[in-house]
Amino acid sequence: MGRPQDISKCEIPISEDEILAAIRVMRFGEEPRCIYCGSDTVIKWGYIPHTNRQRYLCKKCGATFNDLTGTPLENSKISLRDWITIAYMFFRRGMKVSDIARVTNHSPRTVIRVINLVKENSLLQNLLRKLASEKVSGDRS
Ligand SMILES: [Zn+2]
Repeated sequence: MGRPQDISKCEIPISEDEILAAIRVMRFGEEPRCIYCGSDTVIKWGYIPHTNRQRYLCKKCGATFNDLTGTPLENSKISLRDWITIAYMFFRRGMKVSDIARVTNHSPRTVIRVINLVKENSLLQNLLRKLASEKVSGDRS
């Protein structure tokens, strides 16, 4: 019981790495700048342990950060894919919170929290629009 037959039509076919790369390009372009002091003297500084998330070190102010620092995704316990999937189902497909909760295996509370954070965050809205128009044929911005 539960899962609709064709959930694939409600999802954007995209990997965690592709989402992370899209966020990086949207935030930083080719060369990351320090999110704290704005300096471009930023070098790659290994990865966040147990992830493939690149870390950066600013040689001017000494701060470290990554592609998600300062976004609502930074310390999220749910995956980037689930963020995008929930936002896509709600904002582009008009699905109900209860249905989204069921097919994504998250609580309605979590689904609502994601929706509200996306509503307040222009980076996430732009990301959703970009990914939907690039990855879903027939989806118009
Ligand atoms: Zn800096």
